[in-house]
Amino acid sequence: MAKEKTKKRIIHSNVIVIGLGRFGSSLARELMKTGHEVLGVDTDERIVQNMSHELTHTVRADTTDEATLKELGISEFDSAVVAIGADLEASILTTALLLQLGVPNVWAKANSTSHGLILDQLGCHHVIFPEYEMGKRVAHMVSGETLDYVPIDNDFVMVKSEVPASFAGKTLAELKIRSTYGVTVVAVTTGDGKYTPAFPETVLHEGNQIVVAGQVNPLNEFCKLA
Ligand code: ATP
Repeated sequence: MAKEKTKKRIIHSNVIVIGLGRFGSSLARELMKTGHEVLGVDTDERIVQNMSHELTHTVRADTTDEATLKELGISEFDSAVVAIGADLEASILTTALLLQLGVPNVWAKANSTSHGLILDQLGCHHVIFPEYEMGKRVAHMVSGETLDYVPIDNDFVMVKSEVPASFAGKTLAELKIRSTYGVTVVAVTTGDGKYTPAFPETVLHEGNQIVVAGQVNPLNEFCKLA
């Protein structure tokens, strides 16, 4: 999960994404899909051209220059993502300028712990470690413990798992999952493989999947049943 300094939830309709590498371009496309206006910026003309039909606006620019950021109308954006990883200097300079220019929500990607520490000390509102976070998530899938694993907070996760054979044919109410295992089943797949919300009267079937939320230790114990 992103390391966050502000907990206030705001819908950001106007986002600038700086650095259109694998992470930045994927993030920018997803923002577009969810109805946001996205300005994508990169120093590489070829990348800017490639993305120009997919984003609201694209600009070739070096964001380590304060005058350039002002020309881009940075004060109009309530959210900015610095998706520059390998070029540490460019990442730090860009983040520092965005903070100095008063962008209310700055997200920056860190490629290492020390990179993250510097961004954090600059006062960056959200520091993200995509490789580290994805590594943790995939480890739980590779080990076979879960079908998917999404950390929500330090000690709270959501997992996708198979229905344990011993649960088949019983309702959630009968199984008393929350009081017995300390976790909550939030969704269940039906015969066609689609997820639906779980209710006390929902019957679990062998071969179906469930999404379960809870604290790490009880959830790990619960997953061993499957
Ligand atoms: P990814 O893993 O997401 O592909 P990365 O962590 O390897 O990226 P970089 O390649 O350093 O990170 O940066 C991502 C993008 O940021 C690149 O397309 C690069 O051209 C762009 N970029 C680097 N420096 C700047 C800058 N000063 N201004 C704007 N864009 C920049």
